Amino acid sequence: MYDVIVVGGRCAGAATALLLARRGHRVLLLERARFPRDTLSTLYIHQPGVDRLARWGLLDEVRATGCPLLRRVSLSGPGLRLEGPAPAWGAAGGGLAPRRHALDTILARAAARAGADFRDGCSVTGLLWDGDTVAGVRYRTPGGGTDDARARLVVGADGRNSSVARLVGAPYLREDGRLTLALYTYWSGLPGDGLGLYSALGAAAALVPTQDGLTLVNVQLPRDTPGLTRDNARHAYLAGALRACADLAEPLAAGRQEDRLFRCTDLPNFFRRAYGPGWALVGDAGHHKDPASAQGISDAFAQAELLAGCLAETIGDPALMEKALRQYAEERDRRWTPPYEFNLGVARLTPTESHLAVLRQGETDPLFRDQVFRALAGIPAEVPPA
Ligand SMILES: Cc1cc2nc3c(=O)[nH]c(=O)nc-3n(C[C@H](O)[C@H](O)[C@H](O)COP(=O)(O)OP(=O)(O)OC[C@H]3O[C@@H](n4cnc5c(N)ncnc54)[C@H](O)[C@@H]3O)c2cc1C
Repeated sequence: MYDVIVVGGRCAGAATALLLARRGHRVLLLERARFPRDTLSTLYIHQPGVDRLARWGLLDEVRATGCPLLRRVSLSGPGLRLEGPAPAWGAAGGGLAPRRHALDTILARAAARAGADFRDGCSVTGLLWDGDTVAGVRYRTPGGGTDDARARLVVGADGRNSSVARLVGAPYLREDGRLTLALYTYWSGLPGDGLGLYSALGAAAALVPTQDGLTLVNVQLPRDTPGLTRDNARHAYLAGALRACADLAEPLAAGRQEDRLFRCTDLPNFFRRAYGPGWALVGDAGHHKDPASAQGISDAFAQAELLAGCLAETIGDPALMEKALRQYAEERDRRWTPPYEFNLGVARLTPTESHLAVLRQGETDPLFRDQVFRALAGIPAEVPPA
């Protein structure tokens, strides 16, 4: 019997398992994929996420993968160019963009070092019930067999198409459809050592330096872009990059595409109910948003910390645990609704002249520019963590 079973072993699940195991709980962490394994992502972790990696003692390990600290940011739009240092936050002197096969493996290994029982290649196929309370999981083992495991709490950290959410029937609290699609690949030979953001009517692009001297170039287009097929996706990608910023023509012509083009059209925006009897959802499983503001990884870390903090010593006492889970759910919805609204605005890919006019103040006012960069990074208004 475990205290907690966590389903899904990436940013949300491995972090939750790590933090609960460090508090001395018996944790089983089940992951369908065999690690190390990549996943669709444009990699960027804002300063609050980087700071959490530092506080969890994992930042050096992540940096050792060779991903540079991104100490500078630029934001370009029609008639707009803001460029300057990335605001520091806590232990984070900038953003980071580690490859996901590296980051997620570091997190899962850290959870295992903390005492969690990490099993990859294990896919949860069903839940065990005790009346109307979730009491465990049924999962397929790497050898093709089936096993059961029981726990006081099952945490679904299994991504936007969460099996746990489906199996418990977690209702949507809010759904806002799909606004964009993402096309990205890796380039060598691009200049710049910071995060570059480009935005125009109907297209956004991001240049994200990652490991091995490569830069991930992401382009987001409206989801209903007409006539986009597998065959013309590369053309749409390059045209979208230039639509986001014509100045990208020169570096992309001089650079070299080093990987295939990745494409993701399944980018829903929603909140699901975050808990019920014997279960909770964390990360994308409970709340997914368009990656326009690149907050998913940082949010997964923050929600893992919130859930582990609320649960604290309540596991084992059903009444106290119910209260803790309710607190987690209320706090999640309270904290993540305003940035969700902001992100929906960004993902509509319709920067207005009035917004651009406000942002242009940052071209001559470094303090205002810093505030813009802090808002983009999701840096809270309060004082930094000790
Ligand atoms: C195209 C794209 C670009 C993005 N870019 C960024 C970015 O630049 N910055 C950023 O912060 N965020 C970005 N995001 C969002 C970010 O990737 C997610 O928010 C983040 O990965 C959420 O982590 P998670 O652990 O909740 O879910 P996931 O990363 O989806 O992990 C869920 C895990 O659960 C496992 N799983 C699923 N079902 C089962 C099962 N039945 N049994 C066992 N295991 C299971 C899966 O194998 C998977 O490993 C992007 C997302 C996309 C799609």
